[in-house]
Amino acid sequence: MPRTLITGGAGFLGSHLCNRLLQEGHEIICMDNLITGDPENVAHVIGHERFRFIKCDVTEYIFVEGPLDSILHFASPASPVDYLKYPIQTLKVGALGTHKALGLAKAKGATFLLASTSEVYGDPLVSPQREDYWGNVNSVGPRGVYDEAKRFAEAMTMAYHRAHGLDTRIVRIFNTYGPRQRLNDGRVVSNFIVQALKGEPITVYGDGSQTRSFCYVDDMIEGIFRLLLSREHEPVNLGNPHEVSVLELAHLVKQLIGSGSPVEFRPLPIDDPKVRRPDISRAMERLGWRPKVDLKAGLMQTIEYFQKKLS
Ligand code: UDP
Repeated sequence: MPRTLITGGAGFLGSHLCNRLLQEGHEIICMDNLITGDPENVAHVIGHERFRFIKCDVTEYIFVEGPLDSILHFASPASPVDYLKYPIQTLKVGALGTHKALGLAKAKGATFLLASTSEVYGDPLVSPQREDYWGNVNSVGPRGVYDEAKRFAEAMTMAYHRAHGLDTRIVRIFNTYGPRQRLNDGRVVSNFIVQALKGEPITVYGDGSQTRSFCYVDDMIEGIFRLLLSREHEPVNLGNPHEVSVLELAHLVKQLIGSGSPVEFRPLPIDDPKVRRPDISRAMERLGWRPKVDLKAGLMQTIEYFQKKLS
């Protein structure tokens, strides 16, 4: 039975990975310090004989008894609102936390999978973004705490691969949405759905012409699982290439909910990327993966989840 450590296991993606890997027969050790993770996300697997939760800050020394086959390093604040609130923790978990998790992987001879991000491309000057694009990041801007932490984490992961022969993977995750996103995580999909359900104004930042490409969580988890099983050491983009503007998304969410919420324009946050769209050729060729859930279907699932949470 494979034994797997998931850091950030009580977070949005981490908790979905706990479920998927339990289904695949893994024994799961889920670590989280719960600053942005939510114990509710894993409440339904507490008591499962192959699941263990450890409340722990992975920037401190981490210790796991017994063998480990894989470490999936997903611990980090990941929403702009969160990493602006926890700038130093974000830098520490990307840098010190990644180092600790890599050290543990080396000690256990485990495969190490890093959750990286499309934010390594910053405010990209080319679109769509391919893995060989080096990005356009402002290291000293407010978003730099996340972008640079993840860029450092990628560099550290490749260094462990090259210097120690560690078996590593890097996934660059593009905007992902779905059930178990926090109601108040501040991201665009959760904000718009909650606002539309409550009949409150939908807050579009800037003029809403900036674009994102939204991937449904089930597709993302499938891609991460395939990457784990692969032998792919180079970074792999995972995301849905269907690109929409933020204003289009606002209207779509309103329409799907049948909401009368007005659209209100707010100032654009500093360094907010103007475009973002993954080139997923590498994932298609090397993992045989492509997203299957279209935006409307995924939003309907997510709306249903938030409706239950709010009631
Ligand atoms: N955004 C918005 N209204 C909101 C929240 C976000 O218009 O209430 C915009 C934000 O400025 C950005 C896009 O939606 O252009 C996606 O933001 P999010 O925080 O979800 O993640 P990002 O892709 O910026 O990391």
